[in-house]
Amino acid sequence: MDQPTPHPAPSGSEAQPVVCARCGTEAPDGAPPTWTCSVENGTRQYFCVDCARANLRAIEGRLDSSWW
Ligand SMILES: [Zn+2]
Repeated sequence: MDQPTPHPAPSGSEAQPVVCARCGTEAPDGAPPTWTCSVENGTRQYFCVDCARANLRAIEGRLDSSWW
């Protein structure tokens, strides 16, 4: 019996459905390349394109020179 392998994910992490941490948009096939992945306190969070843009300034604002 043949077993089709539609998505040979290397680690499996990208095949899991993800939800935008900001607006709740779901991505059943995993986070698209356009989404932004942010790790905060050990928890991986995803942001859709729109939210990533809206969040970009806030994220960059937190990572200013004082972060070094
Ligand atoms: Zn979103």
